[in-house]
Amino acid sequence: MSRPIAFHVMVKPHGSLCNLDCRYCYYLSKERLYPDSDFRMSDALLEAFIRQYIAAQRVPEVTFAWQGGEPTLLGLDFFRRAVALQQKHARPGMRILNALQTNGTTLDDGWCRFFAEHGFLVGVSLDGPRPLHDAYRVDKGGRPTFDRVMRGIERLRAHGADFNILTCVHAANADHPLAVYRFLRDEVGAQHIQFIPIVERDNDTGFQEGSTVTARSVSGEQYGRFLIAIFDEWVRRDVGRVFVQIFDVALAAWSGHRPGLCVFEETCGYALAMEHNGDVYSCDHFVEPAHRLGNMQVVPLAELVGSAQQQRFGQAKRDTLPRQCRECPVRFVCNGGCPKDRLLTTPDGEPGLNYLCAGFKAFFTHIDRPMRLMAAELVRGRPPANIMPLLAREDADLARKFAAAGRNDPCPCGSGRKFKHCHGAPRR
Ligand code: SF4
Ligand code: SF4
Repeated sequence: MSRPIAFHVMVKPHGSLCNLDCRYCYYLSKERLYPDSDFRMSDALLEAFIRQYIAAQRVPEVTFAWQGGEPTLLGLDFFRRAVALQQKHARPGMRILNALQTNGTTLDDGWCRFFAEHGFLVGVSLDGPRPLHDAYRVDKGGRPTFDRVMRGIERLRAHGADFNILTCVHAANADHPLAVYRFLRDEVGAQHIQFIPIVERDNDTGFQEGSTVTARSVSGEQYGRFLIAIFDEWVRRDVGRVFVQIFDVALAAWSGHRPGLCVFEETCGYALAMEHNGDVYSCDHFVEPAHRLGNMQVVPLAELVGSAQQQRFGQAKRDTLPRQCRECPVRFVCNGGCPKDRLLTTPDGEPGLNYLCAGFKAFFTHIDRPMRLMAAELVRGRPPANIMPLLAREDADLARKFAAAGRNDPCPCGSGRKFKHCHGAPRR
């Protein structure tokens, strides 16, 4: 057994219970794993977890990640106890951080005051402007939730609580990248955004099995176009002002560092999930019997994390890559994506290709030059935001060339096509 220096556990203190019924949610079905449960983490387990989690980390900073379902349904007192227990068990000089993922609909002044006071980072799920958000994010009665989420965000802002936005990219919003991005940036005031592709397996088990996806899923090509459209706007006006997780990951990779997000790491296995009763699973996306490592009330958490089963799980991410990925020019940043989405077969018949491959390849190829430029700025100790005036000059230069180009001239953009069939084609 080799224990990692640090690891993350997404804790589900209220199991999968939620007040919403988001159509694409991968976690609601986990309720079936615990048929007679009240889905409440006991105080004894809460303390045991906090004690063991802190003790197992050999780093000075520890982050607790609270998730669900909807963790706020447990009530504020549960989290007050959690914070008090963290203080009780923290080693001298240790920094304890808390991150909580919520659908935002339950956030009132009490919650937001608490988050601000204790420095919680609150992740709020919001899929874009009203119609795009309400397409799938509905409550148990099928009613829209947009207004309730926006009220929650307003309360967070009013109390000065730290929040980021988690936007799922799916069939309903994937063709509206700029409407989504501009809404989050300009109307929500989001400075940290994650775009999570919905790849939802079409089966009755809720497990990662079968090779078809639901109609709600985004396609690989769509996801690539979505990211490219947002990147092209971001890189011209928002670098250093708005932080989009996958852009940060890419800049790290282009700068020669590890991507820093399990999906794009070579191996994974350091982000586990724990259910309300102490059952520990290899990953939040693999909460299913085959990937249950054990219960931390029976086997210490550190042993479960360092177990051979968990090591195999993490290394399989690299060891099962098909040749197409191993030889791919953007492998250094993509690494085949998350194993949960590897449901395609390569053209030469190898299994294990990521469903989003076309999108990853298009996106990572598209951003190569700007990423090289930003990485070069970083190496010189200068801010990556310096790319914005550079691109502005290039864009202005190109606009002048477009204005001067004749219909049959080669297009100044360098596509190799005639101007009249490229940037000079009449806009429909
Ligand atoms: S299976 Fe996917 S989400 Fe889970 S740890 Fe590995 S890369 Fe991350
Ligand atoms: S872009 Fe496609 S082929 Fe390349 S590493 Fe990613 S999933 Fe594999």
